[in-house]
Amino acid sequence: MSELMFDAVSVRYGGRRGLTAVDQVSLTVPAGQVVGLVGESGSGKSTLARAAVGLAPVSAGRVLLGGADVRGLPRRRPLQLVFQDPYSSLDPRMSIGESITEAMPRGAHRGSAGRRAEVARLLELVNLDPDRAATLPGHLSGGQRQRVALARALAGRPDVLIADEITSALDVSVQGAVLNLVRSLQRRLNLSMLFISHNLAVVRYLSDQIAVMYLGRIVEVGPAEQVLTDPQHRYTRELLAAAPSAHSSLFDGDLGDLADTEPADPHHPPSGCRYHPRCPIGPLVHVDRTVCVSEDPAEGAARRRHRAACHFTASDLAPTAIPRGGSAS
Ligand code: SF4
Repeated sequence: MSELMFDAVSVRYGGRRGLTAVDQVSLTVPAGQVVGLVGESGSGKSTLARAAVGLAPVSAGRVLLGGADVRGLPRRRPLQLVFQDPYSSLDPRMSIGESITEAMPRGAHRGSAGRRAEVARLLELVNLDPDRAATLPGHLSGGQRQRVALARALAGRPDVLIADEITSALDVSVQGAVLNLVRSLQRRLNLSMLFISHNLAVVRYLSDQIAVMYLGRIVEVGPAEQVLTDPQHRYTRELLAAAPSAHSSLFDGDLGDLADTEPADPHHPPSGCRYHPRCPIGPLVHVDRTVCVSEDPAEGAARRRHRAACHFTASDLAPTAIPRGGSAS
């Protein structure tokens, strides 16, 4: 197990008029812990994951694994990404045993018998019958394919697993089983994990820490329980309001009900706080909160609770506090 660290990572596509999909993101996945990364689609979560494994261009900053720049790692096997769509992540012409074997480090297992034994071990690890190693992916259900994708990722003997929306393409009836498997594998193998989802309830189920992303930036991060019970950023509060409660099903809802307004165009991010055109406690409602438009709240976030990128955090607005630049809500 190793620590994964994003150090001021930016991902930019195109030229001067291009798109900055990830903007100076700093985030640490401590060794042996699960960091849940949540946000709406288009917030940059998947791009950040792809940057970690070399599938998206890092235009600034570094991705470090155990303190070493991942660009120097051999094919980045210590860092494995499981994708959202189990139907496209496996080669339909290869048996699931061949797909898993292909992901094994070269020379890690002696001869074909050793590789077959390892395939059987990995299939058992993800609760699939080892006798199905010769099966083609087309004969498996979505949940079974996602289990194979997990086995394939584990074949690379990763220190860190990045799971990108791995349950969202599955039927609700199998999502829980896959999540339980992920949780059990993480604990059993002591993996460090970045678990990405648009569903806060799913993230809550697995994570030691939660990071919230909006329009390419992290706007709040902290211990899961603290972020859930005492969110500092208004966007996190809106996510929580849209998510099912702890007592309802994990899969009752997602962020679709978050707000009536659309996220801003990432090609033209708003000035100051990127959330200000939607924020229910920002200048839309409190016209004196001009600071939200003029000053980037990312500056100074390190000093705030949960590194919240907001000029008027929940702590600032507590009755005893005097908020900067305006009246309390
Ligand atoms: S900085 Fe202003 S607009 Fe942004 S989240 Fe905080 S209160 Fe809302």
